[in-house]
Amino acid sequence: MNTQQISVKDEKKWVGNVIREDEVTKYFVDGKDFINDDEIVEKLAKNKNPDKAKIRDILQKSRAVETLSPNETAALLNVEDEELLEEMYAAASEIKKKVYDNRIVTFAPLYCSNYCVNNCLYCAFGSENKVQKRRRLTLDEVRNEAEVLAGEIGHKRLVVVYGEHPVSDVYFIADTIKAIYDVKVRTKNGFGQIRRVNINAAPMSINDLTILRNVGVGTYQVFQETYNHKAYAHVHPAGTLKSNYRWRIYALHRALDAGVDDVAIGALFGLYDWRFEVMGLLYHAIDLERLFGGIGPHTVSFPRLEPAANTPFTNESRYKVSDEDFKKLVAIIRLSIPYAGMIITARESAQIRREVIPLGCTQTDASTRIGIGAYSDRYNDQEAERQQFILGDTRSLDEVIREFAEMGLITSFCTAGYRCGRTGEHIMKLLRTGTEARFCKLNAVLTYREWLDDFASDETKKVGEKVIRQEMKEIKEQMSTVYPSLVKYYRRIENGERDLYF
Ligand code: SAM
Ligand code: SF4
Repeated sequence: MNTQQISVKDEKKWVGNVIREDEVTKYFVDGKDFINDDEIVEKLAKNKNPDKAKIRDILQKSRAVETLSPNETAALLNVEDEELLEEMYAAASEIKKKVYDNRIVTFAPLYCSNYCVNNCLYCAFGSENKVQKRRRLTLDEVRNEAEVLAGEIGHKRLVVVYGEHPVSDVYFIADTIKAIYDVKVRTKNGFGQIRRVNINAAPMSINDLTILRNVGVGTYQVFQETYNHKAYAHVHPAGTLKSNYRWRIYALHRALDAGVDDVAIGALFGLYDWRFEVMGLLYHAIDLERLFGGIGPHTVSFPRLEPAANTPFTNESRYKVSDEDFKKLVAIIRLSIPYAGMIITARESAQIRREVIPLGCTQTDASTRIGIGAYSDRYNDQEAERQQFILGDTRSLDEVIREFAEMGLITSFCTAGYRCGRTGEHIMKLLRTGTEARFCKLNAVLTYREWLDDFASDETKKVGEKVIRQEMKEIKEQMSTVYPSLVKYYRRIENGERDLYF
């Protein structure tokens, strides 16, 4: 559909056909969704002043990579004692290391369209925001964006983002995914490609999600924004598509039913009490695990509300989360859903990212541009009228990778797990037992080598080589049988071959 061709009548008709009640009610238990607001409030109140021994027992359970119960998470959320908090931070870091070692994965968001039929109070893409410059990329423009990302910056993984609108319906989303996977560009020593296309898009029907599965969509992200029913109704005006809480809360259930391998949950922190939202995320993970044979969310996102052009709510909300509470919530999510990946984005400042990454984050973005067409148009300064919100960290991928190397972290561009079937149920088992860490350690080295050879500045290369030497040494000691095969692949990559993996 052409952006100019949609009449108000057609838009209304499209909106009217999106929600399928039968794909909501089928997941209910006793006619209700899995968030009982009163029960959450009650659990938070009941677990006040938790004793030290109880908290330490809970930390032991997290260390065994077991999902916590709502009462256990409520107890962690009530910890005020400094010494106990320090123990929680230490346990969170330990679990991150156990499940994901010293790896961090990087990606870039790619915004394809900012047309939207909704009017969320916190988002600059809302339909009534008249200062927003609307644009939907053509498929050629999408390819251009992917070429810059894969060929000049060196990204291998994207989260592609769309407003909810008939011009960015499922067919457009599917076409953009295919266009991105098709891109292959020459780099200094080899070639660059986007190997994993994740999306952040509105809730869809099982039928539409099957279309996306068939074109190889990666992880499907839908953030519930707020889990509190009343707060949800307040920020999503009645009558808009997004005002249907239940259609949204079962979006990921439908995705798993459609055969999408990995799903990602999230809450937008700052719309309601942060403790309530952490409980909501946990209940969400538990309900997915209950219905899908133990498969919970692949990742959890916990963006904080950022300022957005002509969107006064973003400055007025009384639930904005302080840096101190942010640190707590990152650690408590890591402890509560210990197997899940955790995504911190460039919404946060470099300083905050540095502080909370060691508490459990596994993925982050860099060289981020969130204006529509911003990578190939090469506008570096943020332009509020083309963006959903304002970023806190606009450093390049090269700078971020260098900083990680200085922190002893290896940046992994590995996407092999997905392509070898290490997804969904299979990956859950591997993550819980720590087995995934072995494959990932090898593939992190191989993809890091590729990136250093193709994209790194001299300065970054210097610290990066140190990280790679250390990793090779550990692999030689810990996995001596596969070490010779690793060295063979490593040499082939040095000679310009790409995309070799275990
Ligand atoms: N339109 C789809 C939707 O709402 O699900 C797709 C994605 S929306 C463009 C991506 C996410 O950005 C939202 O789910 C929301 O959590 C987040 N977001 C919106 N406004 C924001 C703001 N002012 N600050 C931080 N994050 C924001
Ligand atoms: Fe539209 Fe999503 Fe922004 Fe809401 S958050 S206005 S649905 S783009």
